[in-house]
Amino acid sequence: MDTLDTALAAAWLRAAAAAVDRHAPELTALDSAIGDGDHGSNLRRGFTALAPLLAAPPAGGPGELLRAAGSTLISRVGGASGPLYGSALRALGAALPAAPATAAELAEALAAALASVQRLGGAQVGDKTMVDALAPAAEAFRAAAGQGLPAAAEAAARAAEQGARDTVPLQARKGRASYLGPRSVGHQDPGATSTGLILRALAEAAAAG
Ligand code: ADP
Ligand code: MG
Repeated sequence: MDTLDTALAAAWLRAAAAAVDRHAPELTALDSAIGDGDHGSNLRRGFTALAPLLAAPPAGGPGELLRAAGSTLISRVGGASGPLYGSALRALGAALPAAPATAAELAEALAAALASVQRLGGAQVGDKTMVDALAPAAEAFRAAAGQGLPAAAEAAARAAEQGARDTVPLQARKGRASYLGPRSVGHQDPGATSTGLILRALAEAAAAG
């Protein structure tokens, strides 16, 4: 599939929901080490709540579906990650054209999603948050967009997964983990880890589509 249409956006969110469900214990374990142990259950609640939307996607195109999914996450997920992921999806959806999006258009939309997370949360790369996965992913997607959507999504997933691993030696400067100061060093950030899962889900959906 070389454009993001409503079917691919729905397949992506379905794959993301399945991955979050499968990895919820791992996300919660990571959040228990440097947070309050609710990241897996927070995201599972939010992505499970997308089911009615995915069963009957709105007629207005992939952007409208992603915007609606973002609003659902904002209303259903507690904690920092709900508003952050929700605003990311809303910005992503708002930046997409009404027609199916090309890889280049999706690259622009991912940059808008990153900007929205940074506007809301104030985190920079290196602060040990989801931005450490999302920023390199958006950049990798943009750099590979000329190779088509599946290749760009694969590059983005790899960059996000690497970005998540790269959070291990960092000291958290934003969010709950920052309260631990130097004791946050040596653990992988839960939100960067879930961003890796969500972008891996996009790569899988794009490859299958
Ligand atoms: P909470 O921290 O409220 O319990 P979650 O456990 O669901 O919420 O999510 C924690 C994750 O949210 C962190 O691992 C981090 O990646 C992300 N996060 C927290 N604060 C910020 C922020 N200001 N900017 C970007 N991401 C953040
Ligand atoms: Mg938490």
